[in-house]
This record gives sequence, structure tokens and C-alpha cells, in this order.
Amino acid sequence: MAILKEKVLSVHHWTDKTFSFKTTRNMGFRFKNGEFAMIGLEIDGKPLLRAYSVVSPNHEDHLEFLSIKVPNGPLTSKLQHIKVGDEILINSKPTGTLVCDYLLPGRNLFMLSTGTGLAPFMSISRDPETYEKFKKVVLVHGVRTAKELAYMDTLNNLNKDDIYSEVTKGNFIYFNTVTRDEWPRKGRITTWINEKKLWTALQIEEFNPEEDRIMICGSEEMTFEIKGIFEKLGSLEGSTKVQGGFVIEKAFAEK
Ligand SMILES: Cc1cc2nc3c(=O)[nH]c(=O)nc-3n(C[C@H](O)[C@H](O)[C@H](O)COP(=O)(O)OP(=O)(O)OC[C@H]3O[C@@H](n4cnc5c(N)ncnc54)[C@H](O)[C@@H]3O)c2cc1C
Repeated sequence: MAILKEKVLSVHHWTDKTFSFKTTRNMGFRFKNGEFAMIGLEIDGKPLLRAYSVVSPNHEDHLEFLSIKVPNGPLTSKLQHIKVGDEILINSKPTGTLVCDYLLPGRNLFMLSTGTGLAPFMSISRDPETYEKFKKVVLVHGVRTAKELAYMDTLNNLNKDDIYSEVTKGNFIYFNTVTRDEWPRKGRITTWINEKKLWTALQIEEFNPEEDRIMICGSEEMTFEIKGIFEKLGSLEGSTKVQGGFVIEKAFAEK
């Protein structure tokens, strides 16, 4: 397995807790939309790598990532200071379970995320194959404060964008929720699902485990809570080996 060296092309700080950056891409680095790779920096002469979902869809010629800034985090306390031209290490072997191929064919796809758990869904939402497989593609992003709604403008515009309107054909739905600030859609994603308010708010057919598919990416707590809800509704978990009704990935490891 090789470690590729890429150059930072741009950096965008969303808040004091999150930022995004783009890098060059060795086109030999192949990935499925939704997968993650080990990326990082050389620190004290050694590579320090962490798992990161790729934000940019795999047809683009650069790579993009969305990152947390963990105070005193071994990697992100340094990564948050990267500048254009700096070197990023990227392990050449991406992997992950948040891939449409690991879901059974279905009607509507729901991608449910909190915080940086949004990252893998940014590439899946811009993948033409997603829209060939599903009638409606719904991306739900839950955060604490409104300014943490990374990529909100891109997502609000996806159906109107010069390039992506051809891809989504109006079938993409973006739905954000905020727990702490005043916001038109307040509350936790689990509450929106448990109270069945989500389907009404989306003006979409109510969830049917036979037909609808789910992807979940967030904190460990959120991931397992939502997994439990869909299992109770009769959906079965898929994996890289067996297709299922839903697939999950923790957006980060809790310590
Ligand atoms: C499959 C997978 C995919 C991941 N994808 C991403 C991604 O796309 N973007 C990203 O920023 N991180 C992602 N992570 C987390 C990432 O691997 C690192 O943990 C993160 O970059 C912090 O690294 P660190 O060395 O600074 O601190 P670490 O020592 O790795 O983490 C310290 C603590 O910070 C908290 N933490 C770590 N990451 C996050 C996060 N993303 N959101 C909230 N709290 C967090 C946890 O409590 C953790 O115990 C992913 C993790 C996994 C397992």
C-alpha cells in the first residue's frame, strides 16, 4: 500500500470547529463515492494518518475533505493550520461501507448525518449513479449551531447548478436541522424520525423498509440510535459482503 503525497490547493474555514480543504489528486487514487481514506501529515518524520471520508465525487480531478478541529487532537491540532502548497499524505487504499452498491435496489435513498458525518454524502449526492438507482435522494444534516451547516449553499443549489442539475434532475432533497440555534427546522434527527415528522416535512412517501434505503454517518450514539430505529421498522443492515436496507459508518471513533 503506497502513501501518496498531494498538495493543498485551497482551505476554507467554516467555523472554529470545522474546515474543508482541497488537494491535488493522483488519478491512480481510485475510490467509490462514500468511501474514506487514511490521510494526514508527516509529523516528526513519521506519517500521522486518520480516517477521512472523501467529500469530492470520484469524477473530479482534485480531492476534497471536511475536517473537525479537535483541540489537542494529535492530527487536527496541526492539520487545521495547513496552507496552500502544503503536503498532505494520502494512503492509496480507500475503503468503507457507505457505498450505494452495498444497498439493495430501492425507491428513495435517505442519507442521515450529523457534524462531519456529512462528508461521505457530499460525494454520493453528486454521483450520477445514485440518481440512476434511486427515485429521490434525500440528504439530512444535523448540527448544533447554524454556522456548522457546511456546504449548505452547494446543497441548496444542487438541483439548479449548471452541472449537477443534469445529474439530479430535481430529485435531490437537502434537509438540515439545528439543535441549539433558532432555525426553521429545530431538533435532533432521531426526533424527526421517531415522530414521523421527517417524511411529512420532506413531502415524501412514508418510510417503507421494503422499498427505501438508508445510509447513516454520525457520532457513535447517533449512528446506533438511528440503526435501532430502522431495525425496528424492519430494515436489515448491509455490508461490503451482503446488500441490505441500510448501511452505517461512525463519523469518528469515540475514546
Ligand atoms: C470511518 C471514519 C471516517 C472519518 N471521517 C472523517 C471526516 O471525514 N472528517 C473528520 O473530521 N473526521 C473524520 N473521522 C475522524 C478522524 O479520523 C479523526 O478522529 C479526526 O480527524 C481527529 O483526529 P485527531 O488526531 O486530531 O484526534 P483523535 O485522537 O483522532 O480524536 C480525538 C477525539 O476527538 C473526537 N473526534 C474525532 N473526530 C471527530 C469528528 N469528526 N467530529 C467530532 N468529534 C470528533 C472524538 O471524541 C475523538 O475521541 C473519521 C473517522 C472514521 C473512523
